[in-house]
Amino acid sequence: MKVLVVNAGSSSLKYQLFDMDTEDVIAKGNAERIGIEGSFLKHKANGVETILEKSLSNHADAIKLILETLTDAQIGVIKDITEIDAIGHRVVHGGEHYTKPTLVDEKVISDLRGLVDFAPLHAIPNTDGIIGCVNVAPQIPNVTVFDTAFHSTMPKYAYMYGIPMKYYRDYAVRRYGAHGTSHKFVGQKLAEYAGIDFQNSKIITCHIGNGSSITAIKNGECIDTSMGFTPLEGLIMGTRSGDIDANVIQFLCKKTGYDVNKVTEILNKESGLLGITEKSSDMRDICEMYEKKEPQAVLALEMLAYRIKKYIGSYVAALDGVDAICFTAGIGENTPELREMVLTGLTYLGIDFDRDANYSILRGEDGLITTKNSKVPIYKICTDEELAIARETVEVVSNLKK
Ligand code: ADP
Repeated sequence: MKVLVVNAGSSSLKYQLFDMDTEDVIAKGNAERIGIEGSFLKHKANGVETILEKSLSNHADAIKLILETLTDAQIGVIKDITEIDAIGHRVVHGGEHYTKPTLVDEKVISDLRGLVDFAPLHAIPNTDGIIGCVNVAPQIPNVTVFDTAFHSTMPKYAYMYGIPMKYYRDYAVRRYGAHGTSHKFVGQKLAEYAGIDFQNSKIITCHIGNGSSITAIKNGECIDTSMGFTPLEGLIMGTRSGDIDANVIQFLCKKTGYDVNKVTEILNKESGLLGITEKSSDMRDICEMYEKKEPQAVLALEMLAYRIKKYIGSYVAALDGVDAICFTAGIGENTPELREMVLTGLTYLGIDFDRDANYSILRGEDGLITTKNSKVPIYKICTDEELAIARETVEVVSNLKK
């Protein structure tokens, strides 16, 4: 079975075509600058990268070009689009209703349009990407895989905010979380590695990338996660502040003369690691500055590590124990310095950190970073959100055929 995974951003559209019999990636690429002058498609297959410069005025244009490229006689990998059995779409927000991967029909598309307020930056491109596929290849089933779905099992006391109930009733203001597909994927992989039963375990997954979140998983289900109504809440991230006293917003509006939209933008786009270092949101740059002992980079890493540690501690309490923990995503997988800062000082958990293992696991590989004596094993586990989406898509489409 061949599955195309589509991840539509505001001006880009990433894709990967999987052969799901082997889970190999047959081709992948990215349509960039959609709706902007100078748009192009970067396509990679059989070890060759091709750049196709072509005007792409919307996401439907991008999908059309991608399908043409995949079936191209020279650089394509399939003869006809009918070889694609299903298309899986990453959708950032499913609201309260969409708690499982769902086959797309007209109602789903209209419901997704209604969810735009929850994730304005992502919801419109996500829906445009789906509509583009439906229009260009109506014979291929489309499946939406929601970033929020895995978190839908949180108990009410964990997802409600302490604000008047009517705002939940009228506008569904509550914690939804994000990165759910990744947390589920690495949680299952972690259980397998640690030799524990995912359905009968207490696991903490730390997805630390440009956007970061930590999730507490009990018996295979999410019971709490650090991102909230939007991805702004929780950890300090590349450019997001994470947890903050909400009164800071009004205070900054008063002091700076900015309106609430501007301050919200500052909290989302100018804060976090970028705001603290005043130089970069990218962990590779911050690690370089850290090595030179630049005080703001040292502080940024210390703040991030401290907050990860606090969330791990609080989720150990929420789970009433923990069987295994893992680090994943761009920073979680590739920054041993940060993992060391988080894991030294968790001795109360009986964690015996293995410094050598932490620094020697290769890029792209999974591995244990605690010793055999550690009461709680901690792993570095590589995430693969596209493969996770492809697997969920296969499940939905296979159930259709039953
Ligand atoms: P997102 O999917 O949220 O955009 P990623 O999971 O790709 O983010 O993570 C991006 C972050 O990972 C960036 O801060 C980047 O610097 C960091 N990162 C990626 N590779 C490395 C590396 N080799 N060493 C340190 N940090 C890395």
